[in-house]
Amino acid sequence: IIRFDKVNKWFGSFHVLRDIDLSVQPGERIVICGPSGSGKSTLIRCINALEDYQEGTLTVAGSVLGDKLKAIEAVRRQVGMVFQQFNLFPHLTVLENLTLAPVWVAGLPKKEAEQIAMAQLERVRIAEQAHKYPLQLSGGQQQRVAIARSLCLTPKIMLFDEPTSALDPEMIKEVLDVIVSLADQGMTMLCVTHEMGFARAVADRVIFMDEGQVVEENTPDAFFDAPKTDRGRDFLSKIL
Ligand code: ATP
Ligand code: MG
Repeated sequence: IIRFDKVNKWFGSFHVLRDIDLSVQPGERIVICGPSGSGKSTLIRCINALEDYQEGTLTVAGSVLGDKLKAIEAVRRQVGMVFQQFNLFPHLTVLENLTLAPVWVAGLPKKEAEQIAMAQLERVRIAEQAHKYPLQLSGGQQQRVAIARSLCLTPKIMLFDEPTSALDPEMIKEVLDVIVSLADQGMTMLCVTHEMGFARAVADRVIFMDEGQVVEENTPDAFFDAPKTDRGRDFLSKIL
């Protein structure tokens, strides 16, 4: 469903992604980890065309991304993304945050968009907060709203970029539990995170990046217990 074929990207003269080769099958759960600045966010932002690339080929859900607007639109409809910062609109209620894109971008009737929104809020176990404003919710609740908002557009692929790193420790689990249940429902997902317990529980594969390269691909147990590379070992010694 996703295929990077020798993808290279530069920010000016800085070579941020180097010869990325990576395929993801439908339903696969991938965790991406690596040091700060290694290109993790840039890699997943390429998947929904928030970033472009200069060399190689990136195919997502049947569309070849490049600078073709049609492909970018097609891909954005199928790929949801959740960031470290929840990016909710503070002046809209939870429900209004969820119906905004379905009504104004996808052209759904408001009633139908609201039904879908309520169903997705149930899915992240927060339906009772539908009429509150984001700032009246805890960080963990806001992040679950952000996840529900992405789900309203029925994506085939979900991208998460450090979804729990802005949260207080006691809220991390409620957000990870929601992501785990999505994984159990067969969602294809890529998640940048250093949450090892989560990675072991849901990931089919761990991708370790360093200096713009995929340095190691491994099962979570093998990666965390016995990384194949020195750079992987060095990284783990710093986060554990
Ligand atoms: P972190 O763990 O800190 O989130 P990361 O692995 O996600 O790091 P990226 O955000 O992908 O790293 O950034 C990779 C490199 O590209 C960094 O050196 C960063 O400074 C640089 N970079 C990122 N975005 C831009 C940009 N828009 N323009 C120029 N350089 C950028
Ligand atoms: Mg990042």
